[in-house]
Amino acid sequence: STGAPGVGAPATGAPEVAVVGAGLVGCLLACFLARRGHAVTLYERRPDPREAGAGRSRSINLAISERGIDALRRVGLDETVLKAALPMPGRMMHAPDGTLSFQPYSADGRRAINSISRSALNRTLLDAVDAFPGVRLRFRHRLTTLDPETGRMEFDTPGGPAAAVAPVIIGADGAGSAVRARLQTRPGFNLHQEYLDYGYKELTIPARAGDFALDPGALHIWPRGRSMMIALPNPDRSFTCTLFWPERELAELDTPAKVERAFAENYPDAHALIPDLAADYALNPIGHLVTVRCEPWTVLGRAAVVGLIGDAAHAIVPFYGQGANCGFEDCVELDRCLAETGDDYAAALLLYENRRKGNTDTIARLALDNFVEMRDKVASRAFLARKRAEHL
Ligand code: FAD
Repeated sequence: STGAPGVGAPATGAPEVAVVGAGLVGCLLACFLARRGHAVTLYERRPDPREAGAGRSRSINLAISERGIDALRRVGLDETVLKAALPMPGRMMHAPDGTLSFQPYSADGRRAINSISRSALNRTLLDAVDAFPGVRLRFRHRLTTLDPETGRMEFDTPGGPAAAVAPVIIGADGAGSAVRARLQTRPGFNLHQEYLDYGYKELTIPARAGDFALDPGALHIWPRGRSMMIALPNPDRSFTCTLFWPERELAELDTPAKVERAFAENYPDAHALIPDLAADYALNPIGHLVTVRCEPWTVLGRAAVVGLIGDAAHAIVPFYGQGANCGFEDCVELDRCLAETGDDYAAALLLYENRRKGNTDTIARLALDNFVEMRDKVASRAFLARKRAEHL
């Protein structure tokens, strides 16, 4: 294969695949499958985010590491994505008294994770999908039901209900997957879902006098034990902050005065950088954090095979910044399994699940462990290093 997008018109008799969900993972998967010459239809409940007026104006970013970049490289998208990314070679710890300490991610300080706009990445992936003649995009199609025996799917669309049938269906429809919900009622399908008692809020530190208000070459962390905040830089020179706090206490911050007081106490340096904190705070709902483990990811029906990928198969908490990276790695592995099985989807999906499940269970556990590390231990470590330095 060439690795370049835009090639691979499906041959007559090419495998037909329906991918449900045109988020980050569904789009990347569609690129990999189209590059194999398969006929892919991508169904997405939202409108096309590239349409004028679609989407939100706020910047929401995510950290993409080498695992994700490697997957993008294989479909020729790494350079485009990295061009718009801000490298973060380390983390900057903010102590309650405003002291800063930088901890590089690698010994030589040259390896970085990349802050990338989630919506820009999604649009880049959609453009790549569009460049393949073998892919059909169906926006405003919300999957409502699915029969894994026959491969019949039903959708809610602005024009009313619609139906389609596909011999291969892959659910890339995120943590609350509708595809998974249809598999879940079958005997033998195990689902374990665990909410953290922490919620999160997204806030913005705007650019100051046209420049970044904090060092853009770092992932910023304010570890406070019970609560924690992180901030990643955006290309427009703002930072997107994510504040994590026990859900009950977050709910108690229900007046502008309480929000201001909580920030003045816990995050005084960040407080000074968010001019209209209370209004910004009220802008977004409280987000929830869930880990989803399920199996099997592959169900073989009489006339169809259904698989799960990305968050639909394994949603994890965000503290390792690896959810999307992990979903991208799923795409690489499934592509490899298709190559090894001669494009036999039933065999390839089973093989892919076999190879990925242990890894995704492990990252789910590490992500939960890293929450304790980030909100507590990194601070203590920085504190101890400073104390040690003072005594030298
Ligand atoms: P999603 O991104 O959820 O996409 C699913 C798509 O399916 C959506 O477009 C949705 O509209 C569509 N859909 C849903 N239901 C239906 C339906 N019934 N019919 C049709 N379409 C449907 N990961 C990282 O790698 N790095 C990070 O730094 C990072 N930070 C994060 C921070 C936070 C606060 C959170 C919550 C997550 C973070 N993640 C991060 C995780 C990352 O966001 C997810 O792992 C990733 O978005 C999963 O991609 P996905 O395509 O599987 O699912």
